[in-house]
Amino acid sequence: MSWRAIDAFPDKVATRCLSEFERLPKQGKPIVAKERAEWTILAGIVQVSSSDENSIKVVSLGTGVKCLPLTRISVHGDDVRDSHAEVIARRGFISYLAKQAKAALQNEESIFCKVEGGEGRHRLKVENITFHMYISQAPCGDASMTSLAESGDYKEDDTSSTRARKVPSIIVDNTFRRKKRKLDGDQVAEESPASPKDELYIQEKDSLLRRGRESFAELGILRTKPGRADSDPSLSMSCSDKLARWNVLGLQSALLASIIEPIFLSSIVIGDWHDEESMKRALYGRLEETEAFHAHTPDIYATKMQCPVSQTCLQQLYPSVQLMPSNNAISCVRGCEKAEVLVNGRKQGSAKTLKGPSPPKTRSRICSLSLFQQCRDLYYQYARATSTAIEESSLGTYYDFKMLAREYQGVKQALLSERFSDWVCKPQAYEAFDSEGNASLDQTNGNDGKNDELP
Ligand SMILES: [Zn+2]
Repeated sequence: MSWRAIDAFPDKVATRCLSEFERLPKQGKPIVAKERAEWTILAGIVQVSSSDENSIKVVSLGTGVKCLPLTRISVHGDDVRDSHAEVIARRGFISYLAKQAKAALQNEESIFCKVEGGEGRHRLKVENITFHMYISQAPCGDASMTSLAESGDYKEDDTSSTRARKVPSIIVDNTFRRKKRKLDGDQVAEESPASPKDELYIQEKDSLLRRGRESFAELGILRTKPGRADSDPSLSMSCSDKLARWNVLGLQSALLASIIEPIFLSSIVIGDWHDEESMKRALYGRLEETEAFHAHTPDIYATKMQCPVSQTCLQQLYPSVQLMPSNNAISCVRGCEKAEVLVNGRKQGSAKTLKGPSPPKTRSRICSLSLFQQCRDLYYQYARATSTAIEESSLGTYYDFKMLAREYQGVKQALLSERFSDWVCKPQAYEAFDSEGNASLDQTNGNDGKNDELP
């Protein structure tokens, strides 16, 4: 029996996520006052065992609409750079999977089947369990461009149309395409700027990358966060782009790819701004199959269940109130005692450390450093259980550890070189921290893209 046999499945998935959110303490939730109301996006990943509707369990929940600009991210991996709800939910999911894998290796109850010891290396896998995602509104980037145009909320300035097609050079310099050309020894020609204001912007020939909502009539292309063109640039791709990538590589990330079989979403349930055609195009339609990779095609559903902190719901309830995006993000992971509230990628109330990695207490359990520590410990345990030889050097930095997942990296290379060549990759300096958070490359070298290997 399949989960499809569950009556009103999409609404049930949404309801579970919404009631889980309701149950969280007030701390960090959007504040709704007389004159001003904060809104956010809610995303959740649920786990379903065969067709039993009682088995729909929320395993990771996230809220948030903010993303750190490149100028503010740490080289120690101790912050969460992208705090959009979908990304928060997925990072929490990685932590959940790591815990489940650990339980399986210790012969405790787990969603994963037990691993056989001995010479043959087996990855852990799930059987008769599927995963689904709820998002309270269509993901940012390609999937929401048509709704954005129709809503009339956002008008493009005609005079900026030339600039709109240009992207800040810090972003272009870090695209896969540009890095590959530099590594290949190509002369990278740069357009001479028309005015000092344009100096920061360059246009790569044939590039199909836009910043935020610029040129929103152009569909099927990669976009970076955030939506507003007047904010500092980030190197984070839109949620539409990330979801498309998870449909090819899986949700488990490179951190777990050596240990578990890839995990894909079976369906995605959308609250507001649902436009099926745009969703399909953004999430897999634009990824024409090649021999090197295959895009999974989750079912896409709409739900009318209203998220009480969504823009649409608040607008209807309080038409005269000024709406503001919430600065906070919340992460809640099944099996963890408390939900975490994040502000600027760190636990609420903790300041950024001036030198070196921040103290463990102030770090989120879903920042890159925490996930690295969790998955690296798991890898040692897995290697013992499967008699896998460990190359210590490949466990040195976060970057090295991710490179261990060779099969995953091969598919990623194929996806980026064949379909997503304008994908913006983090400069390696931001991934060169060890399991204590010590950065081997200087923060000031972080932006120049030199000494970079391809991801
Ligand atoms: Zn987003």
